[in-house]
Order: sequence, then structure tokens, then C-alpha cells
Amino acid sequence: MDFEDSQAALFLLRVSFSIVRGSFHEATPLQQWRQQALNFDALLRTAAESILGFPMSDHTYAQASLTPTLGGLGLRKTVEHARLAYSASWHESMDTAEEDWIRPSFVSPTHQDQKSASFEFDRAMLEHLVASAPNDREVQRLRRLAQPHAGAFVTAVPSEEDGFQTIMRPRNFRVAVRYRLGVVVLKEDIPCPMCQQTLDKLGDHATCCPKSGDIIVRHNSLRNLVNQVAADGLLNPVMEKKGILGPTSGRRPGDVTIPCWAYGKGLAIDLAVTSPFTDQHLRLVEPCEHYAYHSKHGKYDRDFRGTDFMFGALVFETTGAITEEGTRILRQLFRFAAKRLGHQFSSYCGRAWARFSCNLQKSVSQAILSRCDGLGVCPAPSTLGPTLGSLDLAADSKSVPPPAIPPFTASVSSAVLSCVHACVDTPTLVAPLPLHTNQHTIYSNKELHTNQHTIYIPKDLHTTTVTQHSTHPTQHSTHPTQLTTHTLAPIASQALV
Ligand SMILES: [Zn+2]
Repeated sequence: MDFEDSQAALFLLRVSFSIVRGSFHEATPLQQWRQQALNFDALLRTAAESILGFPMSDHTYAQASLTPTLGGLGLRKTVEHARLAYSASWHESMDTAEEDWIRPSFVSPTHQDQKSASFEFDRAMLEHLVASAPNDREVQRLRRLAQPHAGAFVTAVPSEEDGFQTIMRPRNFRVAVRYRLGVVVLKEDIPCPMCQQTLDKLGDHATCCPKSGDIIVRHNSLRNLVNQVAADGLLNPVMEKKGILGPTSGRRPGDVTIPCWAYGKGLAIDLAVTSPFTDQHLRLVEPCEHYAYHSKHGKYDRDFRGTDFMFGALVFETTGAITEEGTRILRQLFRFAAKRLGHQFSSYCGRAWARFSCNLQKSVSQAILSRCDGLGVCPAPSTLGPTLGSLDLAADSKSVPPPAIPPFTASVSSAVLSCVHACVDTPTLVAPLPLHTNQHTIYSNKELHTNQHTIYIPKDLHTTTVTQHSTHPTQHSTHPTQLTTHTLAPIASQALV
């Protein structure tokens, strides 16, 4: 049977099979059903490939097997996680019984719950994939996909209950997944039919091509959603408000302007989407932060001084990451909307991230489709070879194991650490991940930085510590050479917390 709705089919596949698998994980040691587990994993992989319309290499499927939070599709392999689940269950049962049991060799000596053990395993696998990535583009792709909310479209329930934002057309969904997994969308590089520049087979040019209005559609679609959420919170938002910077400036930095936001001032939200794969961004740790700082705050902050409005930049990457400031703004909008609609904040918030992620990926995938649709891109599901019914599971299972699974018997944390160390020592990697996730990674000189953050709010309201990397981003140093901290007045969104 062929399920045409790829988004719904993948959602059902992941959710329904996870439930079945979980009960086996916890109740039976893997060695007693290893072959069945291999067969099960092979079936799941083949089903996913049929739904998505393309076969996956072991390397690609290793990424697909990661939790969506770390850049995957949540198609975890039974053979990789069963022992972790059994081990957790064994320890929990012993604790519940208040007895001392003789620990089998395949059970971990220490108790770790299954959720965190599986997450650590996935993180180690991600680091392995990063370390073995063939080029900077792949390293950047894997790292940026593991940012908060970047994978919300994968786990989104495709439902009309709050509009059509989370429902993606099957072709869009499949192309969005290709882009996420780094699978080609074209057989080879060709001239872009819109602008004649090179249309690369991974779709990077398509997501940035200025012709045909796809970028404007993408921007306006997200802007409208911001406006809608703000309207749900009764914040009286105004789109493209004129005259924020005076009657004659002619500039409109507020895609969505909220008349009253905090401290009696309004907020002008400027929204943008940027690609982490451009030459300028490819080796930056946080391309969206860099873009927000230089192209938004650097452009507008000074002009907002003394006005009745604060300025906030909301910048997404095409792979789904979003700036810290943008996250804070959206979370506050979600909070107001959830309160006003009478919804629980956590459930409203999860759903809202899904709406934004689907909205973004619809536009990103459409820009790719607009340029390569019908150019012999994606093999149809029917050309994939063996169907589920005819699949030789025993033979196929031999090709399933991914590259270098971190060993279970070693401490998972030490596996993670060894991967991290391996990455840090690898000279081709981009700069290390931010040391403190709650701090900005901002690349600029102190003077500019201070000017940007002391504009509109009295200094005594709040203070925040910012770590400043003195290294200029274009120098690609792998170590922040001079860390300085200083106290600043908050930017618009920081004042919310
Ligand atoms: Zn083009």
C-alpha cells in the first residue's frame, strides 16, 4: 500500500512503531531477539525510504536515526537503543523491589534512565557524524540542525486544528527532508533557470536565489504568522508600520510592530531568513546571530535611540535555527497568546514552534522545487527496488549497521567525551560550540557592541553578562582567544525574562 501523504505517513511510522518497540526494549534482553530487532530495523528503514521517495546510505540513515532534536528524523534503531532501555528497566525494577540482584554483563553498572541514555547515545553519534563529515558544508549542516526548534517540522502533528500551518504538501515535505539530510535534490549542478548562476545539487543556491520572489514569499509568510500570534495575544500588531523612525526616514524596520511591549515602549520586530551555507556563513558558529548583529542591529539600533520603540531582530536559518533574541521574542508572544486563548503554555508553545518550523520549511522546499521540479531529481518510490513484501530481511540486515556505533559497555559519557575531544582536535572543524548557551556569541569590537545595547532601556532595570569573542569571524579561529565580560543594559527581548 502506498501512503501518498508523506508527512502524515512518516509521523505515523515514527510514533506507532516507537510504542511497539518500547515494550520489547524494556522486557527482554536484546540477545534473545537480536535477529528480530535487525529485521524490524530493516523494515522500518525500507518503509521510511518508500515514504520519502529515496534510498538512504548508511551514513544518511545514521542521521535519520537520531532524535529530531539533534538533527534526525527520530527513526531510532532498535539494535542501538534496546540495551540502554533494558538496562534502565533492570535497575528501576531492582530499586522498586528493594532487592540486590546479580547484574548481568549486558546491563550497565550504573543506573541511567532510558531517555537520557538514548539522548547521550544520539549525541555521541552526532559527534561521530560531524567528525566524519566530508567537508565544511556537512559539518555546518549537522551542527546547525541540532539547534533548538530546528527540527520542529519533523515532529509536527499535521493537523488543521489551528489553521493549515503544520500541513505540508507531500512534495514539499519530501524535499524539506532531503535538504535536512543532505541528500541531493538534483542529479548534478546546473544553471539556475531563474538567474543562470550555478544551481547546486544540494539546493543551497535555490534557498538564496533572489529571483522570482521566493525569498519575499518566505519572509512574508513568516511575518504573517508572527502577526497572527501577536493578534491572538491581543497585542494590536501592525505590519510594515510607517514612520517608526520619523516621518521622513523612508525605512521600515518593523515587519511587525507591537505598540505596547515592555516598560511602556513598543517593539518593532524585523524578521529575516538566512542560509548557514553561504561562503560568508559556512564557518561561523552561529550564522543567524552574526546576521542579526551585523545586518539588523548594526543597521537600526542607533536610529531607535530616543524613540518610543525597542528594536528586535528575529532571524531564522534556512535549516531552522533561530537567534536567541528571536526565541525570546517568540516565547513571549506565545505566552501572551496562550494566556489569551486559555491554552496551557507548554502545549501551545510546542505547537507554535511546529507552526513556525513547517511554515519556514514549506517556503525553503518550495524555492528548491520551483527551480528543479521536473528536472529528473527524485526517484519515485516505485523505482526504489524491492518492496516490503519481497525484501530479503536477512540479507538486508547485514548492511544496516551504521558507521562506528559508540560501544555500550564503555561509559556513554566517556564515549561522548572522546567524540568531543576528537572533534576539537580536528583542524578542519569550525569554531567550537558556544561555551555558555545562555550567552550571546557576538563578533565585534566592544565599542560597537556597547552602543547597540545601551540605547533604549535604563541601565538599572536589568543587567546581562555577554561573552565577547574578540576573534573576528572571518579568521576562523577554533578558540575564542580573549574572553571578556561586561555589564550591559538588555536588548529588547532580554528585558522580558
Ligand atoms: Zn538562481
